[in-house]
Amino acid sequence: MSLMRRLAPVRGLAEQAGRTLLDALYPLECAGCGGSGKIICDRCAQELPRLVPPYCRVCAAYSETELCRACAQSRRHFDGARSPYRYEGSIRDSILALKYGGIKAAAPQLGDMLADYLKENPLPGDVVAPVPMHESRRRERGYNQAELLARRVAGRCDIGYRADLLARTRKVDPQAGMTNAASRATNVADSVVVLRPSETHGRGIILVDDVATTGSTLNACAGALKEAGAASVWCLTLAVAGTHRTGE
Ligand SMILES: [Zn+2]
Ligand SMILES: [Zn+2]
Repeated sequence: MSLMRRLAPVRGLAEQAGRTLLDALYPLECAGCGGSGKIICDRCAQELPRLVPPYCRVCAAYSETELCRACAQSRRHFDGARSPYRYEGSIRDSILALKYGGIKAAAPQLGDMLADYLKENPLPGDVVAPVPMHESRRRERGYNQAELLARRVAGRCDIGYRADLLARTRKVDPQAGMTNAASRATNVADSVVVLRPSETHGRGIILVDDVATTGSTLNACAGALKEAGAASVWCLTLAVAGTHRTGE
């Protein structure tokens, strides 16, 4: 049974009892094998879908040419995006658990995985910033998973951390309901603002999110940061979609 299916019965309880209590009551379950204790156990961690070439030099989506079609067609605002994993299998399930399953306790381990990757594959930058979430959605969920990951990465890699550089200005429709990449891009583009231009000007930003799907959210954030004078913007996500070798 999928992790989300297994989570379904306890989600109602989460709403009643509060998520912190839920975290205490239910120890983490491995998204791969269901074993107890970690969101991904040591054995399943060996089998995670590593992102390997060929991928787009800019956005890291699967591409046999240097640039994928999207990046060749229009220039991205970010300098590059990198991820340790493809968005599939148990890394995908663990991200879904953190994001929609209320499993906040998964964040430290996932953040450490991202930090380990960054240590081995350094990106230029002196500030780590999370992709912002609209305040009303943040209240609903209780946390912004990108913030939890970014704070962990900054701490482990000894890089400055700022969660207040960017904000969403209005609530966007849940992107899952949007049908094409173009409408998603428009939907996101108007909604990101830089709150701290003076802290952004001249800085090298490492923008952290859980997953890169079309890259439109990252691109909107990077565009706003560049407009405010950021020297560089590199994106770091746990996983990137659209990199499958064998069309999943
Ligand atoms: Zn496992
Ligand atoms: Zn690309």
